[in-house]
Amino acid sequence: MIDLRSDTVSRPTEAMRAAIAFAPVGDDVYHDDPTVLRLEETVAGLLGLEDAVYMPTGTMTNQIAVRAHTEPGDAVFVGPDAHIWLGEAGAPAPISGVVIRPLLGERGVFSGDALRDANPQMDDYASKTLSAPARLVCLENTHNAAGGAVWPLETQRGVLEAAAESGLAAHLDGARLWHATAATGISEAEYAAGFDSVSVCFSKGLGAPVGSALAGPAGFIARARRFKQLYGGGFRQAGMMAAGALHAIEHHRERLVDDHRRARALAEAMDDLPGLDLDLEGVETNIIRFQSSGMPATEFAGRCRDRGLSLLAYNRRDLRAVTHLDISDDDVEAAIGILQDVAGR
Ligand SMILES: *Cc1c(COP(=O)(O)O)cnc(C)c1O
Repeated sequence: MIDLRSDTVSRPTEAMRAAIAFAPVGDDVYHDDPTVLRLEETVAGLLGLEDAVYMPTGTMTNQIAVRAHTEPGDAVFVGPDAHIWLGEAGAPAPISGVVIRPLLGERGVFSGDALRDANPQMDDYASKTLSAPARLVCLENTHNAAGGAVWPLETQRGVLEAAAESGLAAHLDGARLWHATAATGISEAEYAAGFDSVSVCFSKGLGAPVGSALAGPAGFIARARRFKQLYGGGFRQAGMMAAGALHAIEHHRERLVDDHRRARALAEAMDDLPGLDLDLEGVETNIIRFQSSGMPATEFAGRCRDRGLSLLAYNRRDLRAVTHLDISDDDVEAAIGILQDVAGR
């Protein structure tokens, strides 16, 4: 089976399994697991931030960031189709008790002015007290639901400026920030500059089995560590898993450009098929969002699956194909053959 549903399906390599097997470990709850500590230091360094905390999932790092930046009843601005809002089991409501305020934008990207327009500086006492106080704005780079779209650095900076004007904290959901860097050559630290917190995933394109990190100023990360424990995220000999993440950072970041090249080749072939609609220009990283015009998405995915190609159908029309560590040039060729078969030449 050629599995293009997500880059999360990538499995640990032999070398990664060896690193995991021999990792020195301690107890993460006592903050003395040497491999976890090394991972946290490495990530903070890569992002140019003071400290970082390792957690089991990106959902946990994002939702603890939201929780740590806000109090119940606050409002949180997010971009269109943000993962924090729509892809994390509805967590902001029960975990943080916040109101989500989605902003308008293009392909997951919004401007500083979109934030200013949505968060007017009200001078009237009644209008101030009527609206939930806005505390936080969240950006997502690359943007998952927009098909791996990369935020232009200038646009990011514009939003950070607008956030600073009204005292909003800014969080970056950088689950695939590595992919933005691979696509543009702009370092992770440059993207992270100016944010109050940044979340990164190791279990997607980097190919580690488990984990994400939340990075930020030391005081904020101390608060996040308390919530990690409170929500049951103290995971003891986590160095086993952190070793996989460290191995991924050291060995799998540079190769992400290969995933991008393969996604591009696949998208170009798909663009030629009469039964598929996709925005070729929009394929910037390793995610291809597309539509099947000839049949419902679930049926299209089912027919591909019967022929050995696994895709993700979101709804009646939208599908996704994602390249990753376990997908070779030959797999891409074979996938194209199956897609031609199902969608017509
Ligand atoms: C996958 C993903 C997450 C959450 O990561 P999990 O480890 O699956 O919980 C957060 N944000 C984005 C943009 C993602 O793609």
